[in-house]
Amino acid sequence: MKHAIQTDQFGAHGKAMAKAVETCVHCGFCLPDCPTYRELGQEMDSPRGRIVLMKEVLEGNLELSRALPHVDRCLGCLACETTCPSGVEYGELISPFRDYAESRRKRGLLENLKRRFLGSMLTHPARFRRLAKMASVARPLRRLLPKSLSVPLGLLPRKLPGQEKLSSHYPAKGSEKRGSVALLAGCAQQVLSPQINLATIDLLTRNGIDVAIPQEQGCCGALAWHVGDGARARSLAHQNLRAFDGKFDAVITNAAGCGSGLHEYPMMLAGTKAQEEAGEFAGKVRDISVFLDALSLPPPPDPGKQLRIAYHDACHLAHAQGIRNAPRNLLQSIPGSSLIELPDANLCCGSAGTYNLDHPDTAAQLGAKKAAILAETGADMIASGNIGCLSQLKYHMEKIDCRIPILHTVEIMAAAYRNQL
Ligand code: SF4
Ligand code: SF4
Repeated sequence: MKHAIQTDQFGAHGKAMAKAVETCVHCGFCLPDCPTYRELGQEMDSPRGRIVLMKEVLEGNLELSRALPHVDRCLGCLACETTCPSGVEYGELISPFRDYAESRRKRGLLENLKRRFLGSMLTHPARFRRLAKMASVARPLRRLLPKSLSVPLGLLPRKLPGQEKLSSHYPAKGSEKRGSVALLAGCAQQVLSPQINLATIDLLTRNGIDVAIPQEQGCCGALAWHVGDGARARSLAHQNLRAFDGKFDAVITNAAGCGSGLHEYPMMLAGTKAQEEAGEFAGKVRDISVFLDALSLPPPPDPGKQLRIAYHDACHLAHAQGIRNAPRNLLQSIPGSSLIELPDANLCCGSAGTYNLDHPDTAAQLGAKKAAILAETGADMIASGNIGCLSQLKYHMEKIDCRIPILHTVEIMAAAYRNQL
């Protein structure tokens, strides 16, 4: 698409944003895979429509306030990147655009307070834990509350798991040490499902990998970056570059959203002194499924039964990081297991960071659709690789009274190796 964007006016991201615009040939192939276009049915809520809106704003032809409602409704799922035959790097446009828009947009006092509150709660496990504990008391009353409150309450587990304090080091087990990694422990995940990190540590150490958990680490910054809070995202990225500055073979993540955020550090820190360091760091980031798959592990013991596992591709694994095979390879290594591929597998479940809180109706429509597809499989269990998806799917499966267990891939694998499936 031709454009007249003055790239030098938009700092380090100007060229990448303009490139995404000029690569788009307006073909519309991305529309059927865009969840918001499918739910809302408007061109302006499609990838192609949003690209045009952002182009017009960057050219100075359209008021920011006219584009923002449609830009805000984007889940950032990046299904459009997977589909696009022209290779439009939509993520290189939307995130910097949101960062650019943040200081120029007008928000009401309440909206500003809500954003600050969520930003400070969701990214600090101790604060989030206190909030989640208080909120769980109000959970039974959630049907009486407005959607903006009832949905987040529903996403919390009925009973918060006990607190797990992680050590700074878990040594490799066995005689052969095969490597050493650092683990990003995550924020909300460590409160909602601490067993995911424990399963990750178990799988790594039992296979000869030393696991360090740098205690100075912070939130990955993805939540902030994807809602346009570039300053906060950059500050968290700097903190993690310092915290993970060790001689590790890899930096491991087990939450797709966090992994995708860590891979975006070079974009977040573009134009700063830390850009090169961020590039080296991102080169070491591995999703746990990819790392384990590359170790060529011996298969787990035979559980002595057939297991039909439905696999849900988290958008930030499949679309943002191109990771599809590794988790499938792991799950299929369990003797007697068979994978169920979902129809409409590219469709986002509607979780997407704080999307559930900001756009509860669209998030609920997508969650309900995905839950219906999963229930239809009649699987023995459901696997996915992202805490946001797991919470969203649990909530919507419960709503349709479907009791199929929903687990992180590493929880299933750790149970398989312990012969506890
Ligand atoms: S598929 Fe790609 S090139 Fe075609 S309209 Fe969508 S973003 Fe543009
Ligand atoms: S990121 Fe997802 S919601 Fe946003 S335009 Fe692309 S496909 Fe649509």
